[in-house]
Amino acid sequence: MIPSTFDYQVAESVDHAVELLGEAGPGAKLLAGGHSLIPMMKLRFARPTLLVDIARIGDLSYIRDAGDVIAIGACTRHHDLHHSSLLDEACPIVSHAAGLIGDPQVRHKGTIGGSVAHGDPASDLPAVLLALGAEFVLNGPGGSSRTVAASDFWTGVFETAAAPGEVLTEILVPKFGPAAGWSYLKFNRRAQDWGIVAVAAVVERSNGAIGSARVALANKGPTVLRAVAVEAALAVAGQKAIPGAAALAPEGTSPPSDTNATAEFRRHLAEVLVRRAVEASMGS
Ligand code: FAD
Repeated sequence: MIPSTFDYQVAESVDHAVELLGEAGPGAKLLAGGHSLIPMMKLRFARPTLLVDIARIGDLSYIRDAGDVIAIGACTRHHDLHHSSLLDEACPIVSHAAGLIGDPQVRHKGTIGGSVAHGDPASDLPAVLLALGAEFVLNGPGGSSRTVAASDFWTGVFETAAAPGEVLTEILVPKFGPAAGWSYLKFNRRAQDWGIVAVAAVVERSNGAIGSARVALANKGPTVLRAVAVEAALAVAGQKAIPGAAALAPEGTSPPSDTNATAEFRRHLAEVLVRRAVEASMGS
């Protein structure tokens, strides 16, 4: 289908993008890689009156060592995340998961900021960023800036805590300590698809046992979700409890049924993938 008519402006800076959004009002939308927004527009699920193109703002594309965290500019593309030696060393689950997104074309255009802001519960990077306890920096009118935790960011299907006039500018990812283990498992039919279910696990090991575990699920409800029952069971009983803890993975989820899988199959997949992901984290 052909999108409904819209105007188009190129933002030269974050302030300029905020200004353009403010002038145009709620009908305006930011355009980054366009790999989620343009398909939505073609289906007429989205009908923005103005697209503000932020993809050419060079200083929104970077991966930097910022002390305890890695700071990632919102317009950094999936391809660059995947090939970042800094991320590979300090937080390898991000570069690994970025390499599993779509196909090379998608990874060369799509951005981490677009993935976060789009709020698709099936997306890869949001699940990983939730498991990591990442933070998101939002810039708004009058030079305002605020930081929102990943756990507070996604509020519903394609809904986030970002206000209409705000631009997501930076993603802050905690660095792994020496005792951290991780795994990201994505179950799909074709390599380039979204996960039917995906699981991100980050485990802090203590003397070869589980110290603490953070587990996040994609495509198991209206937003990416923390598997809190699994985390609590692992905190109490440790490594021997992995199968029993994994059996709690469906708790608190409301997976969809669609052409790829029934909700029941997704519940089964979550249990299997959580067990494998936590076991792999202990060995990684
Ligand atoms: P856009 O499409 O430009 O924008 C998406 C939304 O975010 C829009 O509402 C836009 O206004 C908003 N936005 C963008 N940037 C900002 C910002 N900085 N601040 C505030 N709001 C902003 N994703 C996966 O996770 N896994 C997959 O396997 C996968 N496969 C794909 C396969 C195909 C064929 C395609 C087309 C896409 C696929 N995707 C997949 C989605 C892809 O990762 C998108 O690139 C990503 O979801 C959105 O990033 P974008 O830069 O393209 O954002």
